[in-house]
Amino acid sequence: MDRLDGTVALVTGASSGFGDAIARALAARGATLALVARRKDRLDQLASEIEQQSGVALAIGADITQRLEAVAAVQETLDQFGRIDTVVNNAGVMFVDPVEDALLEEWDRMVAVNVNGLLNVAHAALPHLLQAAQQDPRRVADMVNISSVAGIKTGAGVSVYSLTKYGVGAFSESLRQEVASRHVRVSVIEPGSAKTELRSHMRADVQARSHARASVERLEPEDVADAVAYVVTRPRRIAVNEVVIRPTEQQE
Ligand code: NDP
Repeated sequence: MDRLDGTVALVTGASSGFGDAIARALAARGATLALVARRKDRLDQLASEIEQQSGVALAIGADITQRLEAVAAVQETLDQFGRIDTVVNNAGVMFVDPVEDALLEEWDRMVAVNVNGLLNVAHAALPHLLQAAQQDPRRVADMVNISSVAGIKTGAGVSVYSLTKYGVGAFSESLRQEVASRHVRVSVIEPGSAKTELRSHMRADVQARSHARASVERLEPEDVADAVAYVVTRPRRIAVNEVVIRPTEQQE
């Protein structure tokens, strides 16, 4: 297994789903973890499980849509561990509905978390990634942004979720070009349908329709965590900039 010993990783949305699995995967490879989300009780539980496996983890309760809380989460990581080598911008929400039926509050939440929250963390952490990229043990740093298949391919009913995820792709590619020569790798992971809590926040009738459509065997959170771990453990010369990972049976 490729190792991340001596490095620090900050994962947003670590209180469930992909973020929880990503944090465990990076900790298993030796990274020290800063776990960020609003449900601090879940993060405390995860931190203690990581520590039982001889890892090091800090639980940071923060709403990343609040710029000051996002900045404070990055600062708390630095105060505690002195560096940030890896940022996984994973926190996100999804609501699906045709435009004419949509609740505008749901649109606002998707933009607030998937776009503004990601930007708040990315901007606050970037100077520290640039610094870590000049330091041992790896002399390279990583920002991994979790988009979606909906960020490369859209369809009816996912307009605003897709808008936010296409935005994540565009931001990532632009930032990649800005920092590539300084050895900060910017990567986008685009998962298909997975078994997480993501759909549980949608209205019951929408959830039922969405489940009926997605009858394929879904990805496990660990499948996405594997992809993230692969990306961030490549040798310094290799940047895996984009990974599309679908359940085998998913057609769209
Ligand atoms: P979950 O609902 O299980 O996890 C979402 C995470 O985001 C939670 O940890 C939640 O923590 C966190 N979060 C939400 N709002 C905020 C906020 N304001 N501040 C800080 N953290 C927040 O879903 P997934 O694991 O599936 O989602 C992770 C990412 O994967 C998302 O970006 C999603 O769009 C993407 N994705 C998911 C797919 C799927 O099928 N599941 C497919 C493709 C992409 P808390 O509530 O404690 O704040």
